[in-house]
Amino acid sequence: MEPGDLFGSTGREYKSLAELEEHIKAVRCALCSQARVVFGDGNPRARLVFVGEAPGEQEDKQGIPFVGRAGMLLNKMLQAIRLTREEVYICNVRKCRPPNNRTPTQAEIVACRPFLVAQLRLIRPRIICALGSPAARALLGVKESITKLRGKWYKYEDIEADVLPTFHPAYLLRDPSKKREAWEDFKLLAEKYASIPE
Ligand code: URA
Repeated sequence: MEPGDLFGSTGREYKSLAELEEHIKAVRCALCSQARVVFGDGNPRARLVFVGEAPGEQEDKQGIPFVGRAGMLLNKMLQAIRLTREEVYICNVRKCRPPNNRTPTQAEIVACRPFLVAQLRLIRPRIICALGSPAARALLGVKESITKLRGKWYKYEDIEADVLPTFHPAYLLRDPSKKREAWEDFKLLAEKYASIPE
């Protein structure tokens, strides 16, 4: 991945998230599975944005990101640092569900990433939490796994936001022994969030 690719734009300027959502629904990406577009949820002026991988079955049904089992765990983790879904913003790198819930391919991520770049330019959060390897790689343009990346701060240069990669909640459901490290990461998030001027 070339650094120049990372913030590749859709070639358009959007006035609002609603306009961007409409555009995605109209054009889809080159590799779209034709599943429903699950755009994002939460505060359009959030200072903290969570970026996951791709919608799953429940998200595809409801049109809202992180509403299945992983979403329930994410809600609890937010509660633990005294945040609500209404206060933050939640979205995915990939805007539609990959067939059979498989991990999105690199080509699919690259095809969808300009939509995420545009979404983040509109929200302009100060902090981005990357949930899992695909999100961390898509935001940082690196190849390392989440185990290597998690728990440290990086820069998302396009909007000068601080990025903290951590484990994806679906991974924590499969391996609860990783929850301790995820909790350490969430404490870092809470600390940084509290330090941002209103
Ligand atoms: N996993 C994700 O990465 N995103 C969702 O929206 C749901 C599950």
